[in-house]
Amino acid sequence: MQEFCSFSLNSLKSWLEQSGEKSFRAPQIFDWIYNKGATSFEEMTNLSKPLREKLAASFRFPALKLIRTLESEDGETIKYLWELADGQRVESVLIMSGTRRTVCVSSQVGCPARCAFCASGREGLIRNLSTAEIVEQVLHIDRTLKVKGERVSHIVYMGMGEPMENYDAVMESIYLFNDPNAFHISQRRITVSTVGVVEGIERLAKEELAVNLVLSLHAPNQHLRKKIIPYARKYALEEILMAMDRYALETKRDITYEYTLLAGINDRSQHAEELTRLLSGKQCTVNLIPYNPVEGLNLRRPTKEAIEGFRDILVSAGITTTWRYTKGKDIAAACGQLAVQKREPLALVSPV
Ligand code: SAH
Repeated sequence: MQEFCSFSLNSLKSWLEQSGEKSFRAPQIFDWIYNKGATSFEEMTNLSKPLREKLAASFRFPALKLIRTLESEDGETIKYLWELADGQRVESVLIMSGTRRTVCVSSQVGCPARCAFCASGREGLIRNLSTAEIVEQVLHIDRTLKVKGERVSHIVYMGMGEPMENYDAVMESIYLFNDPNAFHISQRRITVSTVGVVEGIERLAKEELAVNLVLSLHAPNQHLRKKIIPYARKYALEEILMAMDRYALETKRDITYEYTLLAGINDRSQHAEELTRLLSGKQCTVNLIPYNPVEGLNLRRPTKEAIEGFRDILVSAGITTTWRYTKGKDIAAACGQLAVQKREPLALVSPV
């Protein structure tokens, strides 16, 4: 059975035509799913009964089952744990900041990048998510917000997984997030974060939609980067940076370099100085993210002084630098804390 939310409006139109139905039904069905909150095809009362039955027999919806939610103490961050049809589990995070409602989505179960500081890739890649499994993370969260008169406003591909290693499904989900018949989220409000997959960056530059792109840099040279990110062996840092420059040029989008600060590893002033040389002349922002402790990892977050010292070196060199305040720490929903979930319930997570 095919998953409904993997279908674009056009592919649904083709499916309807091939099934002997009228293609104008496609936007009506999209409206039920993406705007009216339908939980089954049966509810779609402006469709004939035989069509509703045909849809129900042909499509799986929903593809995700909500297992638990967990809300941070300040109420601004909610973590969602989903179960997929094959029993695998993934997480998403809703971050509420002012009027922004950002969903941090997962693109894979596990991750092939295996960054030393990140919880998601500790067991490597388990499998890619389908388009529907990505789209529904946002759909179900959007439905809970709608009850309060709110909608999801921003999407970041910064949950579990490497989006560029699941390129087609990620791109199809981006087109659905942007589609006025579905979520209608502007391309400027969608951000893809990558560990640095050169072919992926090049392909993304040629897409009709131009989203914001973030490179997880974490080191000012290839030698240190390879130690922190085993996956970094695949591409020379120079090549990745060139692909990022071309992306910025072709799409006119913002480029951000993320740098997770790890005490004693990449947080010294010599690293900051090398970073200013590496990025000199580039139109970009550096986002410094102090390491969030992950259970079982022998790494430390730098002191406040070390973080500020690092930032000051970048700022003095004229590099726009932000220091990400990580939300949701008390519920392990901060950066890189989304782990592959075992089937046993986690002590931390409470039932919905
Ligand atoms: N694979 C993609 C998307 C995952 S998001 C990528 O590598 O960009 C990854 C981001 O989460 C990284 O840039 C890093 O900034 C952040 N991150 C992961 N684990 C972290 C941790 N323990 N502490 C702080 N930031 C972390």
